[in-house]
Amino acid sequence: MSQQHKEHYEESELYRIRHSAAHVMAEAVLELFPQAKYTIGPPIEHGFYYDFDLPRPLTPEDLEKIEKRMRQIIAGHHNFIKRVVSAQEARQIFKDQPYKLELIEGLEQGGQDEYGNPLDEKPEISIYTSDTFTDLCRGPHVENTGQINPSALKLLSSSGAYWRGDEHNPMLQRIYGTAWKTSKELEEYLWQLEEAKKRDHRKLGKELEIFTFDEEVGPGLPLWLPRGGVVIDELEKLAKEMEDKAGYLRVRTPHLAKEDLFLHSGHLPYYAESMYPPMELEGVKYYVKPMNCPMHHKIFGARPRSYREMPVRLAEYGSCYRYEKSGELFGLMRVRSMQMNDAHMYVSEDQFEEEFMGVIALYHQYFKIFGIDKYLMRLSTHASSGLGKKYVDNERLWLKTEEMVRRAMDNGKVPYEEVPDEAAFYGPKIDVQIWSVIGREFTLATNQVDFAQPARFGLHFINSEGQEETPLCIHRAPLSTHERMIGFLLEHYAGSFPVWLSPDQVRVIPITDAHKDYALRLVSQMKELGIRAEADLSNDRMNAKIRQAQLFKVPYMLVVGEREMTESTVSLRKRDGTRLDGMPVGQFIKLVQDRIEKRSSEL
Ligand SMILES: [Zn+2]
Ligand SMILES: [Zn+2]
Repeated sequence: MSQQHKEHYEESELYRIRHSAAHVMAEAVLELFPQAKYTIGPPIEHGFYYDFDLPRPLTPEDLEKIEKRMRQIIAGHHNFIKRVVSAQEARQIFKDQPYKLELIEGLEQGGQDEYGNPLDEKPEISIYTSDTFTDLCRGPHVENTGQINPSALKLLSSSGAYWRGDEHNPMLQRIYGTAWKTSKELEEYLWQLEEAKKRDHRKLGKELEIFTFDEEVGPGLPLWLPRGGVVIDELEKLAKEMEDKAGYLRVRTPHLAKEDLFLHSGHLPYYAESMYPPMELEGVKYYVKPMNCPMHHKIFGARPRSYREMPVRLAEYGSCYRYEKSGELFGLMRVRSMQMNDAHMYVSEDQFEEEFMGVIALYHQYFKIFGIDKYLMRLSTHASSGLGKKYVDNERLWLKTEEMVRRAMDNGKVPYEEVPDEAAFYGPKIDVQIWSVIGREFTLATNQVDFAQPARFGLHFINSEGQEETPLCIHRAPLSTHERMIGFLLEHYAGSFPVWLSPDQVRVIPITDAHKDYALRLVSQMKELGIRAEADLSNDRMNAKIRQAQLFKVPYMLVVGEREMTESTVSLRKRDGTRLDGMPVGQFIKLVQDRIEKRSSEL
């Protein structure tokens, strides 16, 4: 969740409901285990949790019991009553609760809140009591437990969690729950969880043989299997077509560069902790690149530029390497090597709006192709307080470029939300949030306006008055990285890629050996036309072959036997179960070509 979302959330009714539900849950757990030590129980994005130190592992039956007891407590309409206390009094109240005593110390010394999170000011110490349960807490809650809807509440799971997330600390048991305003919202959420499990890109990626990880290669370094390679090729083909039309020029850059380049760009030292450590050769340090920008800047600056060739749009599916902590790696969504749909556009101020809107238009075209109906653009701007620290120290340029972006978005009638104090170091950025068909949110791509790097690299062009002028740079990656995009698409399509993107498009299934030659003839005819077709010549029975094709979510299966062979037809079975018998071969090929050519989402 972004900072902005978090702030909205913390003021919401849902947040109060979930926070209150966590208290109610703790009360129920303490009744079941009077000797339990309790730690913290904050609301989280779609619910809440509470961590306990318990005498034995929790069972599913325990969760049922706890949930049932929670409903009874809720029905008691117990008020949440706040009291501000001294540290000494707090220690007395929680004298049997060692974790709370530790938290009280953090509160007393300042610098930490009641969850042990860093805090700027020294907070007052407050407790909240409802029914028999008292917690170290600063709220907010609902007024009384009756305001938690008992039919919109569910405990989801329990798992181990280290105290303060540190593996040297005791292992606690965390109970996850969710709470909503209405039972309908709860049902929708549970459905989404179920769907997300089925659509988990790690599971589908394995089943469909898209990608794998290997211990010896290293964590966060995906290996793309042949089927994944096809998806990548298709995405790159799409990107190249669109970018060619939009006047981009394609470049290629090495995977590593000298330390000097990254010192120049400012990645060192500011971005160093996200970079792989250097390697040394002939007394010079080299780094693998975390971003492609500095190399593109060098290409722009490789020769003098005139206003006549502006804007210059340099595109590359560039490989980058970033160090993510092993604990934070997650399938394809968080990796250490990535290939980015990158481009840098060097534009004069006059050209900015048109170029910027050109990028937004590209997004819309992609959304349409991928059937992404819900999206949000978030414009992150600077904050004066961060100038010279988080942000390049030039308020005039900040205000100017932010206004340029706003004007472009307004003129283009692009809906957006503005978020202060979340910009990139060198300029305002636009994050593009999209929702998959099951309603899960993904941040795929960012679009950044950069008024600092071109000057750092001494980039300029000769304007129409014969003067040197520094261009602005737009960084954009609408298709994100292959890793993130394919991770998203696997969930979005539940593995059933549209025909144009499918690793296998057609599977021909001969009924007996006598029909193998006909099957092979069909395959070579289709391959000739660029259709990804294969014949299943194994000795399996026909039904097994069909099942096999279904497992790989092949869009079209062609069953061919005696009749098809003599009539030069095919019996088509589509992935969705529809069947068309006796279809002339030419007609089928036309259908596939049409779907591919239009990048249609139809079968
Ligand atoms: Zn609370
Ligand atoms: Zn860039």
